[in-house]
Formats: sequence, C-alpha cells, structure tokens
Amino acid sequence: MVLERAARHPSGLGPGFRGRVIMPDAHDYDRARRVHNAAVDRHPALIVRPTSADDVALVVAHAQERGLPLVIRAGGHSMAGHSTGDGALLLDLSAMRDVEIDAAERTACADAGVLAGEYTAASHALGLVTPFGDTGSVGVAGITLGGGVGWLVRKHGMTIDSLLAVEIVTADGRRRIASAVEDPDLFWAVRGAGANFGVVTRLQFRLHPLHNVLAGDILLPATRDVLRSLVPVLLAAPDELTAMPTIMLAPEDPAIAEQHRGRPVAYVSVAWSGPAEAGERALAPLRALGAPISDTVTWQPYPALFAPVDRDEEPTWAISSRALFLDALDDAMIDVIERRLTEPGAPGAIVQLRVLGGAMARVPGDATAYGWRDRPALLWLITPDKDPARAAANEAWTAAFRADLPADGAATYVNFMGAEDTDSVRRAYPAAAYARLRELKRRFDPSNVFRANHNISPA
Ligand SMILES: Cc1cc2nc3c(=O)[nH]c(=O)nc-3n(C[C@H](O)[C@H](O)[C@H](O)COP(=O)(O)OP(=O)(O)OC[C@H]3O[C@@H](n4cnc5c(N)ncnc54)[C@H](O)[C@@H]3O)c2cc1C
Repeated sequence: MVLERAARHPSGLGPGFRGRVIMPDAHDYDRARRVHNAAVDRHPALIVRPTSADDVALVVAHAQERGLPLVIRAGGHSMAGHSTGDGALLLDLSAMRDVEIDAAERTACADAGVLAGEYTAASHALGLVTPFGDTGSVGVAGITLGGGVGWLVRKHGMTIDSLLAVEIVTADGRRRIASAVEDPDLFWAVRGAGANFGVVTRLQFRLHPLHNVLAGDILLPATRDVLRSLVPVLLAAPDELTAMPTIMLAPEDPAIAEQHRGRPVAYVSVAWSGPAEAGERALAPLRALGAPISDTVTWQPYPALFAPVDRDEEPTWAISSRALFLDALDDAMIDVIERRLTEPGAPGAIVQLRVLGGAMARVPGDATAYGWRDRPALLWLITPDKDPARAAANEAWTAAFRADLPADGAATYVNFMGAEDTDSVRRAYPAAAYARLRELKRRFDPSNVFRANHNISPA
C-alpha cells in the first residue's frame, strides 16, 4: 500500500521519504515558493520539506536521477535568489527546526532549518549565545556557510569561528561529519564556501556567555570628518564594541531636526557586550565625532537585536546588493557615496559599514575558506524596495553605484553579494583559497550538483 502510494506520488520520491512534498497545485505552493528577495519570483517544479538527514539524502539522489536542478533553502535570505529556481527541485529545510543546548559543555546543535533569532532566543534563555549577523530571520545554515559577520564579530569572531562541526550530505549521497578532526578539508571549505559542498543538515556551535548588551543607534551628521573617522575610531575601540554605521538619507521623521531630513546622515548602530561600567566610556569617542542628532543606546537583552519573525508572514523586499572590503572611507569614496545617495531619482539605497578587526582578525587567514581576515572594514551597498516592479532599474543603478566606487577589483563577501558573475565569486576568496576550493569541489562535487550558489566550478 505504501509502495503503491509512493509510486503514484507525482514527486516520484520513494516510500522512505518522510517529509512533505508541495506540488504546484498545492494550496500553499505560492507561499512556499516565496523568498525574502521579492525581486526573485520563480516557480520550482516541486518543493520538498525533509524532516531528517536521511530524507535529505533521498532528495539529493532523486534530483540527480531525474536530472532536476537542485536548490536548497534554509532561511531564504539569499539576495542573489539562490534558494529558489524555475523548474527546480527546491529542498526547503524549514521543517528541520530542532535546537539542542548543552549548557554545561557550552555547545549547541541546530538543525539546518533553524533561524538565527530562534536559535538565539533558545540559547540566551540559558545565558549563552553564538554570534550570527544582525537579523533574526536569516537562516543559521545560510549565514554560517558564507562566514557570518554580526554583533559579536570583534569579541568572538565570525559565526564560522564558533562552528565545531557539521553533518552534511554530499553529492554522492553520503552523510558525513565534517570537523577539525573528521574530513578537515571539507570542514575548511564549509566555513566560507559551504553551499558549494553539500546539504548541511545539522550544525554544532560553541556558545559564549552573554546576557545584556548596551545597544542602539547614534545618529550623526554625515560630515566629511565624521565619515572619514568612523573606521579608525571604531577599530581602536575595545573588542567588545561592534558597530555598523549606515549612511543614508535621513527619513522625514519629526524626531529628527528638520535640517537633517532628506540629507545624508550616519546611523551608527552599536552593540557593547563588555562590562557595564566600561560601556559608556567605550562609546565616548564615537559620540565625540559630531553632535549626535539622536541617540537610542540603552541596555537591553541581546535577543532584542534579533526581532522575532513569523517566517511565513515576514515582509519581503526587492533587494539589490553589492559588497567590498576597504581600509577606511576616503574622500574619493565619500564623494561617490554623497553624489549617488542624493542624485535626482535615486532609489532609497543605504551604505552600511561593518567595522571588523578584533577576534575575527586574530584567526589566521588560511584557517577557513573565508580568508579576508586582515581587512578592517566591509562596505555593504543595499537598495531595498517594497515594489518589485522597480527591481531591474534598482539593480542597474546599484551596479553602477558599485562601479563608481574607486575600488576596482576589491575583495567581496559572499554573504552580501547580489546576483553577480564568476569574477565576483573569485574575489570573495584569496587566490590560494579559491584554488583549494576548486580542488575540493572536484573531490566532493565533481558534477557540480550544488551549483545554485555563488558557484565555484570544479578544478
Ligand atoms: C535582511 C538581511 C540581513 C542580513 N544580515 C547579515 C549579517 O548581519 N551578517 C551576515 O554575515 N550576513 C547577513 N545577511 C546575508 C545572509 O547571511 C546570507 O544571505 C545567507 O546566505 C542567508 O542565509 P539563509 O539561510 O537565510 O538563506 P538561503 O537563501 O536559504 O540560503 C543562502 C544560500 O545558502 C545555501 N544554503 C542554505 N542552507 C543550506 C544548507 N543547509 N546546506 C547547503 N547550502 C545551503 C542556499 O542554497 C543559498 O545558496 C543578511 C541578509 C539579509 C537579507
């Protein structure tokens, strides 16, 4: 009976598959195919929601047998639209949501469908956290496989620096554990280029004690002096202070003095994760850069930085994205940013800086596939728009803005890349790391089964 049912099932997946299959005629197909980037509107041939690593192995084999392009989704926040595809078999991990915390050992295991905010809420209840990014709705798997730069990057490093092991189904259908001692080459590759090497089904992380942070936004006028000083001042801060300054036009908000509205300002979002008595002292040099227009910094529980989301109802945005590493904002860079943000007809773009250094920079550059440990800052140019009809125009504008920035050939960060070409993917890794990744790709995925990602072709 079970066999008959499976044989009749249009997905063609065998009876061993325990998860759910969503075909295009299902009532919730449209909701299930939705991804965070609303500019990406694609129709998979079928969507499967496995419930275990065994299910995942069946799906990986099935896609290859049927010659179906395989796309994998965890949190669905790929800005390049990699977690969906027309006519593809979409392996949606959202039904795999277990988080197991070992407070005594300070480790946690998360299924690959868990979101950063969900994990953080569960671990923080025990006074422990793992560093992710700045947004709760991003998938733990997706952010980790690209590196992970967030609120604790200077204190505890990137997400991959707290990764202890992964369980991964590779193209040959094998379930493997990759860690510092088992399949160490694969573990190296997973930490920065993971989406290329298999379906990660479970991740084990180190946890760090943390309850509250001193966090919020210090809004500064975007004068040339302020912008030039941001990176050096924040790099000189103690490792417990991580900041994300965002340069954008100030909104028409009555809480902001009129002369600043519609003009470039710097929202410096900060998180201090050190001792209470030292926090205000650490923020003083930042506040001294210019008279703050507003200041919302206050003590709060760390999970407040990861607003809870309903994964089915989260608003989507049409997003264009580009990234590059830099040493500091210099005058030439500032000129382009000011001109582009204020030019007539400009979409509402934002230019965010992630000031790095600290624990992240103390990891040797060749320890993980992510290799840009020596870069002081990362610039993320994002054009979000509620209206997908403007997506193509915004994409062209964002690409032109990036091309104007005087940083030809600068390194980029795989998690912040948009839909870009192979040359850009090459710039996401130092040359030696890229060559090693191509060799490992040949070893673990010679037919490039896992290609719906910032793809590394097998050597
Ligand atoms: C609003 C927003 C905020 C962000 N903030 C940050 C930030 O602060 N720091 C940062 O570093 N990044 C940040 N990012 C970037 C984010 O980390 C990447 O887009 C990440 O890839 C998203 O992961 P996901 O699981 O949500 O996405 P998905 O779209 O599900 O997956 C992203 C990629 O990873 C692959 N993938 C996902 N799960 C697996 C798996 N289990 N096995 C193999 N491959 C898999 C997918 O196929 C796809 O190629 C942000 C993105 C957005 C949209």
